[in-house]
Amino acid sequence: MKFPRLEDVDLAGKTVLVRTDLNVPMQGGKVTNNNRIVRLLPTLEYLMKKKCRIVLLSHFDRPKGKFVPSMSLAPLVDAVSEAMDGKEIQFGVDCIGPAARDAVAKLKAGEIVLLENLRFHPEEEAGDANFARELASLGDVFINDAFSASHRAHASITGIAAYLPIAAGRLMEEELASIYSIFSNAKKPITAIVGGSKISTKLELLENLVAKVDNVVIGGAMANTFLLSQGHSVGKSLVETNLKATAKRILETAKKKKCNIILPVDVVVGQPDATSNACVGIEHIPADQMALDIGNETIRAISDCLATSKTVIWNGPMGLFETRPFDVSTMMVAREIARLTTSGTIKSIAGGGDTVAALAIAGLGGSFSYLSTAGGAFLEYLEGKTLPGITTLLEAKNSKPHSGGKIKANA
Ligand code: ADP
Ligand code: MG
Repeated sequence: MKFPRLEDVDLAGKTVLVRTDLNVPMQGGKVTNNNRIVRLLPTLEYLMKKKCRIVLLSHFDRPKGKFVPSMSLAPLVDAVSEAMDGKEIQFGVDCIGPAARDAVAKLKAGEIVLLENLRFHPEEEAGDANFARELASLGDVFINDAFSASHRAHASITGIAAYLPIAAGRLMEEELASIYSIFSNAKKPITAIVGGSKISTKLELLENLVAKVDNVVIGGAMANTFLLSQGHSVGKSLVETNLKATAKRILETAKKKKCNIILPVDVVVGQPDATSNACVGIEHIPADQMALDIGNETIRAISDCLATSKTVIWNGPMGLFETRPFDVSTMMVAREIARLTTSGTIKSIAGGGDTVAALAIAGLGGSFSYLSTAGGAFLEYLEGKTLPGITTLLEAKNSKPHSGGKIKANA
């Protein structure tokens, strides 16, 4: 893949917009896993050496185009600063308009400002060209270092390139090179493990994935929609009732493509506050409870499947791993993959903010062949899709004369 890297654009002394993904796991206003921040440091260090003024752009969660205080990026200022040995990080209370312009104007060479959540503006997710132009007006160069958000044709991912020279950041480069090198030479059988809670965004990806891999393990809240599609009642579980038909179709496609699907045969039910828990067969999920983890028999089936696999891809925790005892299956599957990777039996890639956080809790992140910062984007990339953000990089026309940077914003 040929795309511009940091070395290919003139950065010295420039104001550089860096699209990052600071959508990190948080609890009670505190960052619980800083992997995405740490992985961003090589790009920031390079830009600081080049005496750039650095403007960090990111989304956080899904505020749906409105200001939602609990989804502010403000708490990330301390987390980024901490990861950079206490370096001062400025904050701009908006990502466009006068607040953004003032915050950027105050920057000196080598300084960093983090601007507020892009998704507080509906134009971001709509891929609005004017919004992209306003963002672009804040800097001279655009760096995409958000592989994990590059499956979205949002203004800050694909739009800014129309106005500024662009390049991939170090993390983007590392993600593309590492995933490509493992997946292009992947030994079969290949097993994909998919779980987590982002059912609506990830379920449809499975339809293409079943054509690419030998086994698909479905756990986490994702499994509930499949159980429902097979006629089981899932009580108060997290589920997407309107995706029942899609789930059914995916199972049919898998059969046609001779992809073996492993669904839970038992689950741990209870309440999210963990006041109760019990392992039951999938035909016995109580009407007033939630399936919050997969059960022992299912874990055994997954272990058997892993034992015959050569390549394992994992996105999405198998249960509500943040709350004991619903972390059991996620930890056991993590340990098994780590053991097989360490012994040289398999190659393994895990991706996703929460998946990587779960591996950090287990102390096993280092035992996987590669950890991606991406969840959904990583699955789409493996599916063989061209991600909009990557296409934008591949099609970069940096050699063409551009405006030289500053375009007057009309805000
Ligand atoms: P990632 O960030 O790794 O891409 P997701 O964001 O899709 O993964 O999902 C992670 C979340 O899914 C975790 O917060 C976890 O608690 C939740 N989860 C997993 N299984 C269940 C379940 N059965 N019920 C409710 N939440 C679940
Ligand atoms: Mg997540």
